[in-house]
Amino acid sequence: MAYNIVPLNELISQFERLPGIGKKTAQRLALSVLQQPEESAQRFAEAIVNAKKKIHFCNCCQALTDLDICPICSDTERDRSVICVVSEA
Ligand SMILES: [Zn+2]
Repeated sequence: MAYNIVPLNELISQFERLPGIGKKTAQRLALSVLQQPEESAQRFAEAIVNAKKKIHFCNCCQALTDLDICPICSDTERDRSVICVVSEA
C-alpha cells in the first residue's frame, strides 16, 4: 500500500535503508512508530542519534565502545599485547 503522506513516506524510506528491511517491513515499522505515544517515538529517535554520536571503535582493539579505550582494554589486569592492535603511547 502506498501512502500519499510525505512524512510517513520519509519514515518508511528511512526504515527501508536498514539491512534486511524490505518495503512491507518498513511500512509495518513506520506504522508501529505512529501508534506509539509521542514520548516513546522521541526516545526511539534519541536512542538512534545518541548511539551514532557516542559509539565508536575502541582505539585499542576496535570493538564497539562509548569510551576512547573499551573496559576490556582498560583493565590493567589483562595482557594488552594480546588484544591491542595499537601500541600504548
Ligand atoms: Zn578495546
